[in-house]
Amino acid sequence: MASADRVVIIGSGHAGVSVAAGLRTRGFSGRIVLVDGEPGLPYERPPLSKELLKPGAPDGATPLRKESYFEGKDIERIAGATAVSIDRARGMVALSDGREVGYSRLVLATGSRPRLLSVPGADLPGLFTLKTFEDGRALKQVLAPGARVVIVGAGYIGLEVAAAAAKLGCDTTILEFQDRIMSRVTSEPVSRFFEQVHRANGVRISFGTAVTALGGDGRVEFVATADGTRYPADVVVAGIGVVPNQDLAEAAGLECSDGVLVDDAGRTSAEGIYAAGDATRFASLFDGASQRLECIQNAQSQADRIAADITGQEPGEPGVPWFWTVQHGVRLQTAGVRHPDDETVVRGEPATGRFSVVYLRDGRISAVDTIGGLSDFNPGKRLVAERATLDAALVADPGTPLADSAVPALAPSR
Ligand code: ADP
Repeated sequence: MASADRVVIIGSGHAGVSVAAGLRTRGFSGRIVLVDGEPGLPYERPPLSKELLKPGAPDGATPLRKESYFEGKDIERIAGATAVSIDRARGMVALSDGREVGYSRLVLATGSRPRLLSVPGADLPGLFTLKTFEDGRALKQVLAPGARVVIVGAGYIGLEVAAAAAKLGCDTTILEFQDRIMSRVTSEPVSRFFEQVHRANGVRISFGTAVTALGGDGRVEFVATADGTRYPADVVVAGIGVVPNQDLAEAAGLECSDGVLVDDAGRTSAEGIYAAGDATRFASLFDGASQRLECIQNAQSQADRIAADITGQEPGEPGVPWFWTVQHGVRLQTAGVRHPDDETVVRGEPATGRFSVVYLRDGRISAVDTIGGLSDFNPGKRLVAERATLDAALVADPGTPLADSAVPALAPSR
């Protein structure tokens, strides 16, 4: 039987936990059940490719909330069981341990999983991906001084692992399809700056490189590429992007297209079923562009809107999505979402290691990258929220505060 006033949340990353927390903050008094396939308390993922891999770092996950929080807020947790199917007619979710849980509202916060390297030899031991705490711990164990580490893909994950591996004394090589690093998320000047940082720290990078096979006798010993090169490897890490976990939603007949489709309130195409976080695709609240965002801010913002919708309240203001990475101790922090054809305006001198890059679309700021310092981050984020029109010449002058580069809105004509 479907249960009145029971919200079941599948997945306990930032999105799932934030829905549960948001419901209680907004006074929801029904039952909340948080289901997660992984055992233990929900935890932070960003440290898995950063702090966890540092020499001498504590070997534990960083919990999102303490056990006492979930108890105090009367949030029931089912950890170590996955949801295997949704029966919409009955309002029931079947779990991998054979149980069924009834819901009045269902929230899918199922996240994403690493895209798999689909080449011969990809089943050999010695190939790693990084998503869970267990993945991080397993990787840490093999990043030994002198180990030959080949990383496939130069996105955030591949680059953060490369920096950690180099620091741990591994012989580190990155193989990337494209002709620059972080090509999906940032512009050429930022890519080139970070490429130099990696090279200065002893990381080799090979561009235009397609992996064709992994080989070895019983475990990975080399990576073969399309140009005929064989890179010797003790450890291979694939950081080639993620795919949204939408199988459960698809099987239940929810509309999906590289992500579970949701509206501004987090509603899927099925009555009473919501979705939030990395698994979703939605229209940007700023410019309407269809997007799937892998960021904590978005997970929390969607969670808030879902909690508001379920409790019949007004949601908070939508925040600007933001992202960060740290590589060899250098921080890149981004507010907003850049499009590849945006105008790119560099502020400051990259050679100094502290600069910003502002992205303009039809004169309006869409995003800002801040490198090595954060002085432009908050002003930039505010301008993105306002969709401000900027004077590109003033933006390019680091002596002019970024906020002062905004072109005042024209007074309405009479
Ligand atoms: P992540 O979030 O895992 O870091 P991104 O999508 O930001 O993922 O980056 C993944 C990078 O991997 C991209 O730069 C992409 O060009 C690269 N890539 C994807 N597939 C391959 C492949 N088969 N060989 C080499 N590089 C790849």
